[in-house]
Amino acid sequence: MPPTCYLCPLPKQKIIDLYLHTRDLIRHNDDIHMQRTKVKDLLTGAGEGQDVLLKGWVRTKRGNKYVTFIAVNDGSTINNLQVVANADAFSEEVLKDVTTGAAIAVTGELVASQGKGQAFEVQAKSIEVLGKADPEAYPLQKKAHSLEFLREIAHLRFRTNTFGAVFRVRNAMAFAVHKFFNEKGFVYMHTPIITASDAEGAGEMFKVTTLDLDNPPRTEEGHINFNEDFFGRATNLTVSGQMEGEVAAMAFSDIYTFGPTFRAENSNTTRHLAEFWMIEPEMAFYDLKMNADLAEEFIKYIIRHALEHNREDIEFLAQRLAEEDKAKPQNERQEMTLIEKLELVVNNEFERVTYTEAIDILLNSNHYKKKKFQYDVSWGIDLQSEHERYLVEKHFKKPVIVTDYPKDIKAFYMRLNDDGKTVAAMDILAPGIGEIVGGSQREERMDILVERMKMVGIDPEEMWWFLDTRRFGGCPHAGFGLGFERVVQFVTGMGNIRDVIPFPRTPQNAEF
Ligand code: ATP
Ligand code: MN
Repeated sequence: MPPTCYLCPLPKQKIIDLYLHTRDLIRHNDDIHMQRTKVKDLLTGAGEGQDVLLKGWVRTKRGNKYVTFIAVNDGSTINNLQVVANADAFSEEVLKDVTTGAAIAVTGELVASQGKGQAFEVQAKSIEVLGKADPEAYPLQKKAHSLEFLREIAHLRFRTNTFGAVFRVRNAMAFAVHKFFNEKGFVYMHTPIITASDAEGAGEMFKVTTLDLDNPPRTEEGHINFNEDFFGRATNLTVSGQMEGEVAAMAFSDIYTFGPTFRAENSNTTRHLAEFWMIEPEMAFYDLKMNADLAEEFIKYIIRHALEHNREDIEFLAQRLAEEDKAKPQNERQEMTLIEKLELVVNNEFERVTYTEAIDILLNSNHYKKKKFQYDVSWGIDLQSEHERYLVEKHFKKPVIVTDYPKDIKAFYMRLNDDGKTVAAMDILAPGIGEIVGGSQREERMDILVERMKMVGIDPEEMWWFLDTRRFGGCPHAGFGLGFERVVQFVTGMGNIRDVIPFPRTPQNAEF
């Protein structure tokens, strides 16, 4: 019942309004007190002098018999918030479960910090342990752990400074991918993950089946009969969304995909995963140069976004790298810091050379003359990783776009150049990583495309829907694929690709 006033002459409605307003004010005030503030915001000093509520995981606890300092991290930033618990308010009994790894909720006043290392801290008024972490069993201790060890506890490694930074950077870059294409009016296409075509030929595929592997149905010839399988045909996990992307580009002009891709290649390298994320834009009316321009602008954009939005994380990773470097012999150390390297990339043009020019550079190098390459160099070879590294790290010292590769080492769908020997392909090579982008202008001429398909043993009938794009309103178009983890590696400086994807899948390894 709304209150009515017997005492004053105020109209009834006015009283009701006042009552509602006061009630809302009280509720609002309560909300402020109950609402959790993230560590990132507390560290800016927002709410200084007021009581705040924070929740997070204990990183460290130290102190003496008068006071205990608890460093709390909630993943919102690389920095911890220091919680100060005075002995007169908190007995040892209360603090005994506040151990590294435990989840806690703290209320207290946000004040300017006396100590060095942080601008603000919280003077605790209450501490509640939400979840204990047995110090005897919790694997993350104060000492530095090796990346190899942390890979074995990938479910806990997010709670370290290094992996916190890596995955915040990864998140920012994923957001920047969508932001970039959205600003350019590209349509985000979800291409299928299960596919019946293996025309991409980009490596071994994982089979998808529900057949009884112990007792599969067989054809008269004794082969496994996939007609009886779930989809009535053999299916695989996709190695690329390009084919479907091309189809969509023939309606929306500009599209991109950003999704997981799978390759059952048995390559145990620091740059290959069996499951990785790829971004594949496909643009109608683009030629090779426009394609390369877009790729360069795109790479710079997402790196710049990370530098601007995740500065502290990248600074931490740069520091980590610099320390790792100190342990190496002088001649193996980096010439630049991570941040210098990234700034160089975003502020300079990528180098552009044709494959033929690249081969000449290699042949004329002292490295080649001194027979330091393991694999021989001649026109027509597929560039080996050592060749790519020489070009980007020794010769140009910046990202390089190599174009116009021999047709025999590239996919059938790449547009044949007028010389009849090369195709309008482009690979982007980055220092320390190697190939991060593979792309091309696509073959839009039906007769040449079909001929190239037959030459590599692909049945054009099977690809009827793909060929329809050339049959009905085909046009010059181009696109590329960028391996997301490889750029994240580049930006974070992480040497092993397994450390930039939350739960890596590699040969013999699919834990978690
Ligand atoms: P690489 O020669 O490095 O194996 P690729 O020629 O097989 O690469 P593409 O088929 O052109 O690569 O794929 C496009 C992009 O996807 C590559 O430029 C790379 O960034 C990324 N990529 C390819 N294979 C992998 C993998 N196994 N793990 C992570 N990223 C990959
Ligand atoms: Mn490959």
